[in-house]
Amino acid sequence: MALTMRAVKPTAHLLAIAGLAWLPGPAQAAAAPATPPPAPASAASAPDHPHRARAIEIRAARVRGLAEQMNQPAADLKQACRFESDITTPPPPGLVSLSFDDGPEPGATEAILALLDKHQIPASFFLIAAKAQRHPELAALVKAHPLALVGNHSWSHPNFHDIPAAKQSSEVDRSDTALAALEAPKLFRYPYGNSSCETNAELQRRGYRIVGWHVDSCDWAFDKTGSIDAHEAKICGVDKANREHFVDHVVSAVKARKGGIVLMHEIHPNTLAKLDTLIERLLAEGFRFAPLTDPAFEASLR
Ligand SMILES: [Zn+2]
Repeated sequence: MALTMRAVKPTAHLLAIAGLAWLPGPAQAAAAPATPPPAPASAASAPDHPHRARAIEIRAARVRGLAEQMNQPAADLKQACRFESDITTPPPPGLVSLSFDDGPEPGATEAILALLDKHQIPASFFLIAAKAQRHPELAALVKAHPLALVGNHSWSHPNFHDIPAAKQSSEVDRSDTALAALEAPKLFRYPYGNSSCETNAELQRRGYRIVGWHVDSCDWAFDKTGSIDAHEAKICGVDKANREHFVDHVVSAVKARKGGIVLMHEIHPNTLAKLDTLIERLLAEGFRFAPLTDPAFEASLR
């Protein structure tokens, strides 16, 4: 299996390092921690900043995921197909596949496509189908671009761990129908990477491949100011030296994995501002770029 659970559960020690020692143990799992960390707030609290709200949601999902991985037996999590988006198997050596989630995004989609043209490299766009329907001209641009692939990132971007199987199924059904006109390859990425056995089975029935990532750019965390705070650096595994350097973080993470599928988001201005430099740096390091449909990535998909 190309995507597997991380072999090692986060230990109390690691969580302490990560500043997550406040996470509730099994006995108090349902109760709110007495001293919650900064951030996790309702997306509704920042209606004027949808990108910031999404960053808060991603952070909250990551923190909850870590808590669950600490508190639940690994075998149970694996049996429930809970956290499968971190690809633990090696990528094709020296090959990188860039992927951008949460679009299409006016301004951003066009800018990313222009950079693909400039560098003549491919990339994938995991579109939120409801957004694609609101911006059909952008979805059409991605579809028509010879270096771009369209992927399915659900209908409305819910956390699949928070919704019942029937709602998960309707998210897949609606997005599949909406994106069918784009004649996209059947590639699906879970919102927040949060998977379920029921949806895995449904996606496979519909002929989809499930796409995770080898490298999480953690661009949602860098987006606030261009630097990442200590807490988020630990959640994301960002070296201290790279906390103020998004490009250095991604390059060093790609070098550590010797290539791979890189997760980024269209909605973060900092990502767009640094993308040209990031691509140049990866090229200078000798990496080559390939689409997710390249047979070399076959073993990285499910
Ligand atoms: Zn997303």
